[in-house]
Amino acid sequence: MKNKIIYIFISIITIVILASGIKYLFITRINIDDITIEINSNYDFNSKKGKLRNKDIELTNNSNVNLNKLGDYEVTFESHEKYAINSKKKVKVHVVDDEKPIITLKGENEIIINYKEEYKENGYTATDNYDGDITDKVTIQNNIDNTKLGKYEIIYKVIDNSNNETTIKRNVIVKDIEKPIIKLNRNINSYVILNKNINLNDFTANDNYDGDITDKVTVEGTVNTKKIGLYKILYKVKDSSGNETILETIVNVQKKNTKGIPVMMYHWFYDDTKGEDVSKKPNNHNYISKTNFEKQIKYLVDNNYYFATWEELSDYIDKKIDLPEKSIILTDDDGRVSFYEIAYPITLKYKVPITSFVITNKEPWKKYMNKDYLLMESHTDSLHVRSCTKSKWDGKAMCETYKSIYNDLVTSKNKLNNNTTVFAYPFGHYSDDLIKALKDSGFKMAFTINSGKVKKGANKYKLPRVRVSKGTTLNQFINSIK
Ligand SMILES: [Zn+2]
Repeated sequence: MKNKIIYIFISIITIVILASGIKYLFITRINIDDITIEINSNYDFNSKKGKLRNKDIELTNNSNVNLNKLGDYEVTFESHEKYAINSKKKVKVHVVDDEKPIITLKGENEIIINYKEEYKENGYTATDNYDGDITDKVTIQNNIDNTKLGKYEIIYKVIDNSNNETTIKRNVIVKDIEKPIIKLNRNINSYVILNKNINLNDFTANDNYDGDITDKVTVEGTVNTKKIGLYKILYKVKDSSGNETILETIVNVQKKNTKGIPVMMYHWFYDDTKGEDVSKKPNNHNYISKTNFEKQIKYLVDNNYYFATWEELSDYIDKKIDLPEKSIILTDDDGRVSFYEIAYPITLKYKVPITSFVITNKEPWKKYMNKDYLLMESHTDSLHVRSCTKSKWDGKAMCETYKSIYNDLVTSKNKLNNNTTVFAYPFGHYSDDLIKALKDSGFKMAFTINSGKVKKGANKYKLPRVRVSKGTTLNQFINSIK
């Protein structure tokens, strides 16, 4: 009896052992866990394998997962082996967007702005692998205080529809990058009459950040007012951020002028260096060759001529000041293209100021406005025509009413942004009406084409000039300004 029980017990154990062995030998196994797939990627469900004994076996599946659409899906995998016990498993599939959006900044990652300068956003874009363009969801945070120098951060943040967040930064540095400004209470190129005094310390210096830094200016150079010559004086100042301004000035020491100031009158130019020939053009005596013009300008510079301002000339006429013996003013009538393209580059090269008397209803002068060493003054708006009925050679201003002359002058003034107080009479013709209209419209001086130098006490509305013509040799030129 006891043996029988033991026998049965052993048999059961044996059967259990055998059965599990058989199960191992014949049951297919599918060990697949939940699957997570990034949206829009490729995924091959057929690559999932089952196991039978120690070998991989093919599985079929019923996937209808849309890999381009976020969601939770269910896929059933099944084995179909012969001589085996087949299995089936339902697996959860999650199509997710786990990828962070990308923010791309336009412009530099580090931007320097000037003290008190408004920061201007350079822009950005944000794209997400699933949501596409989400630029409009970007939020910006910044604590820039442009009144305090320092380094600031701008934080750009965006969150896509699946809660993936991206933040990036841009540095903004608030710096004082502006140079101080030194202001002299005289012209940068100025003069002093021999044996008179000049105050070289008549200046102020201001900085956008430090304010008044006049006391930090150093002055280099001296002027010997007892000796004729050009003296270079340098003014230097540095602000607390290291921005330096160096102002180079020239003081021209000369005897005082007693013979009057030559105001030169040029008209048109031709480029002889390019073989241009004007001998057959009408009024060709008014054309100056590029070569001759440059010789004249070079002569003036080499001989330390002082280029007086209109204000100085006015004060000189009014006997308020003396001017250097070798003072001169250059003017050109009509504002033709040849003046701007042939003569002006030469005066610019020698850093010599020249005034262009422009006929403001003609175009070419406009694009030369606000250029260095080039001043614009009026030569009327529309009165530079010979159209009087009494005599066909009279300029139009000679036969217009006071009112229409006045209106023309105001028009011309407005076109020159009201920056004109000096006038040249068309063809040199003037009348009482014209002079009255000039005074009434705010012109302070007017030039004729009468030959001569401007003397102290001269009539400011009948000022003479020194004409330069095509045939003028350098020696004639030199004699005409002596
Ligand atoms: Zn003219």
